Formats: sequence, structure tokens, C-alpha cells
Amino acid sequence: MMYPKSVSARSGKIKTKKAKVNIPYVCWQCGRNGCADPLDKHHLFGGPFRAKSEQYGLWVYLCHDRCHENGPDAAHQNPETMQKLHEHGQRKAMEENGWTTEDFIREFGKNYV
Ligand SMILES: [Zn+2]
Ligand SMILES: [Zn+2]
Repeated sequence: MMYPKSVSARSGKIKTKKAKVNIPYVCWQCGRNGCADPLDKHHLFGGPFRAKSEQYGLWVYLCHDRCHENGPDAAHQNPETMQKLHEHGQRKAMEENGWTTEDFIREFGKNYV
């Protein structure tokens, strides 16, 4: 089996390739531009996968108050919103890296789609 070196979590000093940032500076959820409610960066996969989320560019912008932390549909309040974000992240990761579902699970632990 061949694994690209950069994917190995065990190799201590990982040379993280800068993920291409093609993420538009608007809220993923509602499309606002952050003028009224500053945009936060939300990692699509948190906890133990947060660093990988960063490495693979798996994050989105969300309005800090309304869409990220405190609103009824905010990512950290509403499980449905969180699920949509996980699904978005998985599809993006699989598309950008040419991964199968199994590849995704190997990297991020479970299937969200
Ligand atoms: Zn968040
Ligand atoms: Zn928003």
C-alpha cells in the first residue's frame, strides 16, 4: 500500500501543504458578508480532526453570532446544521482528493453522507 507521506499522522513533523484557499469570504449558511456579524472560521471536523480539517482546507465561514455560535440554526446549536456541514466537508474532501468513502473514513473516522 502506498500512502502519500503528507497524510501520515505519525510522522511527527508533517510538511503540511497549504490547502488551496478557494473559500469565498461570505457566510456558508446565509451568504452574508460579515459586515454586521463578523465571520468566523468554522472547521468542518473538530476535536481530534481539527488539524486535518485545517490541512485539507475543510472549513467554512459562518456569521459569528447568528450562524456559528448562538442562533437557532447555528452550527454549534443545531444538529441538522452540523450534519449539513459534515456532509459538505466529506463531499468536498472526497472530490478534491479523489477519495472514496473508505478513504474518507480512514482520515476522518466516519461516513456522514
Ligand atoms: Zn465552529
Ligand atoms: Zn450567516
